[in-house]
Amino acid sequence: MDDCLFCRIVAGEIPSRQVYADDTAIAFLDINPWHVGHSLVIPRRHVADLTSDATALTEIAPAISATASLLIDRLGADGLNLLSSTGATAGQEVFHFHVHLVPRYAHRPGLRELMVREPGIDLDRVYAQLIQQD
Ligand code: 5GP
Ligand code: ZN
Repeated sequence: MDDCLFCRIVAGEIPSRQVYADDTAIAFLDINPWHVGHSLVIPRRHVADLTSDATALTEIAPAISATASLLIDRLGADGLNLLSSTGATAGQEVFHFHVHLVPRYAHRPGLRELMVREPGIDLDRVYAQLIQQD
C-alpha cells in the first residue's frame, strides 16, 4: 500500500524509532505519546484493522508480548495498557492495524478520557443483547 503511512514505516521510507522487529511485525515509538514509552506494534503486511483479517492479531502476538516486556523492563514502568482502535468512530486514525502499548507509571497515574467509565450503562440490557438468539 503505497499511500499507507505505516507500510511506509515498515519499508523504511519514513523513519521511526523502532524498538522491536521480527519476521511478521515491528514495534516503534508513537510520535505523539500518551505516556513515556508509548509504542505501536504493527504487522509488516498491510491489514487495515482488527476485523479485516482473522489472523493479524495472532501474527503480532509474539511482538506484543516481547515489546511489553521490553518496555516494562527497560523503562521501569509499573504497568501497561494495551489498546487497539477499529474504525474512525473508535478513534482509529491510521488504517493499518496497530496495537498501542502504553507503559504506566505510579507517579503519573492520570488516565485518558478514553479510559474513563461511561456512567449509566445497563449491564443486564447489554448482556441480554449479547446472548440473544437470532
Ligand atoms: P490510532 O488513533 O489510529 O489508534 O493511532 C495512530 C497513532 O499513530 C497515533 O497515536 C499517532 O500519534 C501515531 N502516529 C501518527 N503518525 C505517526 C508517525 O509518522 N510516526 C509515528 N511513530 N507515529 C505516528
Ligand atoms: Zn499499511
